[in-house]
Amino acid sequence: MFSDAFVGLACTDCGASLTVDDADPEAIAGAGPCPDCGAPRVPKYDLDRVDPEQVRAGPRAWDRDAVLPFPAADALSAAEGGTPSVDAPRIADELDLGGVEIKDEARNPTGSVLDRGLSAAVTAADAAGADLVACASPGNAGQSMAAYAGRVDLRSYAFVPTRSPFSNKAMVNVHGGEMKVVPGRLGDAVDALEEELQADYVDLGAFASPFRHDGLKTVAYELLADRDWQIPDAIVLPAGTGELIVGVVDGLQECRELGLIDDLPTVYAVQAAGCAPIAAAWDDGTISTEPWETPDTIVGELEVADPSGGDLALAALDEVDGDALTVEDDEALESAVAVASTETVEVGLAGGIAAAGLWSLAEDGALGEDDGVVVLNTEAATKAPDVLRSHLMGQGV
Ligand SMILES: [Zn+2]
Repeated sequence: MFSDAFVGLACTDCGASLTVDDADPEAIAGAGPCPDCGAPRVPKYDLDRVDPEQVRAGPRAWDRDAVLPFPAADALSAAEGGTPSVDAPRIADELDLGGVEIKDEARNPTGSVLDRGLSAAVTAADAAGADLVACASPGNAGQSMAAYAGRVDLRSYAFVPTRSPFSNKAMVNVHGGEMKVVPGRLGDAVDALEEELQADYVDLGAFASPFRHDGLKTVAYELLADRDWQIPDAIVLPAGTGELIVGVVDGLQECRELGLIDDLPTVYAVQAAGCAPIAAAWDDGTISTEPWETPDTIVGELEVADPSGGDLALAALDEVDGDALTVEDDEALESAVAVASTETVEVGLAGGIAAAGLWSLAEDGALGEDDGVVVLNTEAATKAPDVLRSHLMGQGV
């Protein structure tokens, strides 16, 4: 069932493991958090079994199945990944940076970077013989889950808050998924899933599934391959659940262990100032995130008040000498508009948070004329074009 290098799952806290040598494959594929301590479990690989040449090339995410849990032939896939790194010379010039590339994850099957993760997570649940998969989501994960579950007629149930964008809600149903729209915010949707869904289900929430963040690491492999394995000076990405930070850092570290790169770039995680539990904990120098009391950002996809991957994201940033920062909503919208109007790329709201982080880092002097930077646009602008358009109305356009 599993790829050759996959050795099993390990708990991120107590260290208990579930290995392919001594556990039922379906039990591994259907596993959730650690039954002993409740912490997330993560896939482990023996990279000595991976030929670096196997993961050097290939346009799509599953072309790198040597470092993923399942062989590509068994994956539920709709050609995730292979997204372009788009050169952004006008922005580099404006900000006096050495170079800027936008890794445009909007060009995934459902317009979100999360397709890489949900492709892996739904594959795992299906391999485990699940009858029902579910998650609470700001929107994109629910849409992506429904899209992959539909490939095998697997029942899926997304719990989304009322503020979730219309396009997410519509497409959950269009992909054949069931959905509950929960009054309130993401935390209310999380509670509703736990309290109301009575059937047995496999939870595909971030870090509820051990496989979801793991699929995201293919972003790191690709952005390095796009640069012919020359590392950028910095990677700037938006953060909500923490899964993208952990996935990208895992991917970078694997690439170094495989000898594909010698050093690691600095990873900057950017959060909306109105909901920034990871950035706040980073500033405080603590190893655990605290729930954000009054989450309030127009970027609903990143309004994750109690991130399931918060602690792991902090540890990951620490391992790569990373940093975390916050930007205001207005800055995110302004940056998304600036990119779309000068560099063609249609940056979504979450990508706008990363782009605003780039502006902030350049203006603060953290990044300068010698620095080549990759910015991740994690979702399509067409998820919520009304929000971007209304930002222009505030300027009289
Ligand atoms: Zn444990």
